[in-house]
Amino acid sequence: MRFEGPLRKMSTIYGENIRYSLRIGEDLLFMNRLIGSQIRMSFKGNHTCFCGQLVPEVYRQNFCRDCFFTKPEASPTIMKPELSKAHLGIEERDLEFEKRLQLQPHYVYLAKTDRIKVGVTRNTQMPYRWMDQGAKSAAILLEVPNRYLAGEAEVALKDHFVDKTSWQAMLKDLPTDEDLMEAIQRAADVLPENLKQYLYQDSKEWHFNYPVQHQIEKVKSISFKTEGDALEGELWGIRGQYLITSAGVFNVRSHTGHMVELEVL
Ligand SMILES: [Zn+2]
Repeated sequence: MRFEGPLRKMSTIYGENIRYSLRIGEDLLFMNRLIGSQIRMSFKGNHTCFCGQLVPEVYRQNFCRDCFFTKPEASPTIMKPELSKAHLGIEERDLEFEKRLQLQPHYVYLAKTDRIKVGVTRNTQMPYRWMDQGAKSAAILLEVPNRYLAGEAEVALKDHFVDKTSWQAMLKDLPTDEDLMEAIQRAADVLPENLKQYLYQDSKEWHFNYPVQHQIEKVKSISFKTEGDALEGELWGIRGQYLITSAGVFNVRSHTGHMVELEVL
């Protein structure tokens, strides 16, 4: 079987075991079924930006240079919600887009991998965001009416929790033994007073089981830089947006737009 097209991040379905699917060109692959198979994925040497342009190189975060500096999807508030201004009616790149994105309910959550981290997501992205991160478990702390307030809470909590975790430790499945619901309580106690009204009632701990057949002890990362670069090995499992293979691990999301050919041998 042979598939060809640009890479997109894998879609997930939450359940007792997480199910992954990957769209390549016209085909939708149910990735869990490929676990245990030999796969070969090779890079064709160019990318499609989300604007649809075929470009020889991406600039940053999988955008072409033009998109990175002009499109609202690539604006700095995407990474730093505390910079949001749509609630004040102030435009950054495209006020209508920014209003749609920012003026909707957001969650501030704690998620556990090798450490407990704080993060922000739109409520429609939950629980997908956590599965994309490869979190072992997660719980909602706050539900706020807009992105700015979520950013404000995240900044306040960064003194107490990290906002990044180690993907190597995540892939080696080395979770912290800190208690998540205790951390939620601790976070609630240290929140600025104006945010306490948004505390999420009946927060519960979500657990995530990834389809991993063979646990790795060493992390060897494979990435595609030049045409012909390839990943070839037995697919051992999937966690977050990583394919875990006998040849090494491959981050599908960070290769968004890369034109690839995938063979199931
Ligand atoms: Zn572009």
